[in-house]
Amino acid sequence: MITVTDVSKVYQSGEVETHALKKINVMIENGEFIVILGPSGSGKSTLLNVISGLDTVTEGTIFFAETELTALSEREMTKFRRDHLGFIFQQYNLLQNLTAYENVQIGADIGQNPFPIDDLLGKVGLTKARDKYPYQLSGGEQLRVSVARSLAKNPDIIFCDEPTGSLDEINSKKVLKLLQELNTAYEKTIVVITHNAGIAEMADKVIKMNSGEIIELIYHDVKKDAQDISWG
Ligand code: ADP
Ligand code: MG
Repeated sequence: MITVTDVSKVYQSGEVETHALKKINVMIENGEFIVILGPSGSGKSTLLNVISGLDTVTEGTIFFAETELTALSEREMTKFRRDHLGFIFQQYNLLQNLTAYENVQIGADIGQNPFPIDDLLGKVGLTKARDKYPYQLSGGEQLRVSVARSLAKNPDIIFCDEPTGSLDEINSKKVLKLLQELNTAYEKTIVVITHNAGIAEMADKVIKMNSGEIIELIYHDVKKDAQDISWG
């Protein structure tokens, strides 16, 4: 699905050059659940950002199926992102004057949503919160709205950069389990940066990074059973 070949990224700020990615080679297969692990500053976000076209590469190529993302103009990339890619951010980017339902509706309006919105809200455990506004929801609930919104867009792949950063242990586990379930039940390819070692064990592939390099690629043969999450 995605092929990253010899990708380097150098950030230049004044006299200082940071080699954030050094000749990265990696593939993302359709339907995979991928976890990126590594210490702070190792290049995880940069890798996610260049793969998803939020940032440009300094060298190398990235293909998404037959499309060379590294050859697209900014405008073409924006369109490609809208049509094919989903994002879940740590700051959930919900619209404050819209309810949970309406925020998910926004995702559906952008993409080709094949799922009833109430089903999506049910999937993320927010049936009762359907008509609440973001300020009436906990952090975990807001994150789940953003998960449902990204699903409603029906992207080919969903990128998450430390989505549970501000949640407690129990809630972050649930959200990561939810992402895993989207991977199995909706067959979404998911790439997630997380520190949660337990979730890394459930990934098909773990990309371990350090100092801008992939130091280890771990493949797991995980059994994918759909599981029910109790949201409490
Ligand atoms: P991680 O997500 O693993 O914490 P990042 O990809 O954010 O790491 O950063 C990798 C390196 O690139 C770090 O040294 C960081 O300081 C540097 N960096 C990231 N973004 C920028 C930027 N916009 N300008 C300059 N340096 C950056
Ligand atoms: Mg980061």
